[in-house]
Amino acid sequence: MRVFKFGGASVKDPASVRNVGRIIQGYRQEPMVVVLSAMDKTTNALERLTALFMEGKKEEMLRLFEQIKTFHLHIADELFPNPKHPIFSTLEQSFYHLLYYIRETAGSQYNYEYDRIVSTGELVSTQIISAYLKEAGIPNQLFPARKLIITDANFRDARVDWIQTPQVVKSKLGPYLFPSKEGNKPPLIVTQGFIGGTSQGFTTTLGREGSDYTAAILAYALDATEVTIWKDVPGLLNADPKIMEQTMLLPEISYQEAIELAYYGATVIHPKTLKPLLSKNIPLKVKSFSDPAAAGTIIDAHSNNDKLHPSYIFKFNQVLASIFP
Ligand code: ASP
Ligand code: MG
Repeated sequence: MRVFKFGGASVKDPASVRNVGRIIQGYRQEPMVVVLSAMDKTTNALERLTALFMEGKKEEMLRLFEQIKTFHLHIADELFPNPKHPIFSTLEQSFYHLLYYIRETAGSQYNYEYDRIVSTGELVSTQIISAYLKEAGIPNQLFPARKLIITDANFRDARVDWIQTPQVVKSKLGPYLFPSKEGNKPPLIVTQGFIGGTSQGFTTTLGREGSDYTAAILAYALDATEVTIWKDVPGLLNADPKIMEQTMLLPEISYQEAIELAYYGATVIHPKTLKPLLSKNIPLKVKSFSDPAAAGTIIDAHSNNDKLHPSYIFKFNQVLASIFP
């Protein structure tokens, strides 16, 4: 069983959604869970929407709401030539829920409102992509992550309940992923990254860029054979190519090295992602969605290449103070 995660850049427009379909199509031999982010920069836009909502700037907020909605409808228009396709009423409904909510007066808890609003990005993204995959002949089941990733009520940076979550994930997804009777095609589940829910039913989020973490949590709960994060880079590089001219791809590194890189600020993987994978020895691949055949980077327990090449993390405008007795 594999877990795939596609980030915002890999689902930013109709062409990239089609590309996601092609990539998934190439891996249909075994059961799979696909974790999706919000499309393109939707999370940033929804963060601005939340700020306007909290500040009571209704007009500006409603304009931004329309922009976000139109952006998604345009993508759906291109992916679904039939204007009567049910996805359009699904999207209308999701956006209506959001509109209905933000028309009211904001509560005083910023982070609570944030999670309630910003989670819409992943919801509509998964609605569009799940429906598109079905259209493209890839049957799949859309599951709400809110009911799978159980967290505390620390809104906007919710902590996962590691006792409940694996049990809930196994009991809800297990029967679907590993059915007792032989189906024709291995099952595929689609769900939202970044979103969780409290056991009282409140929506939470796991912190920015948290979709990688979602993929790792699900992989842990389901004892996946591997996780692949599909990105707009060829894999993990030994430095940020925006800063350094000559970088090299790290073909294989250890969990330890990857944790250190993430800890010191390499932005390719969310820092919390590695721990659940390490504890179950599940390899993590980082691959390019524009060159899916290329090997990318594999992070696992076997690598002993770490010392062969230095990696560089740049931190600007910082002072390092070492204090010792
Ligand atoms: N959509 C969220 C964000 O942009 C989560 C993610 O993409 O990982 O932070
Ligand atoms: Mg992202």
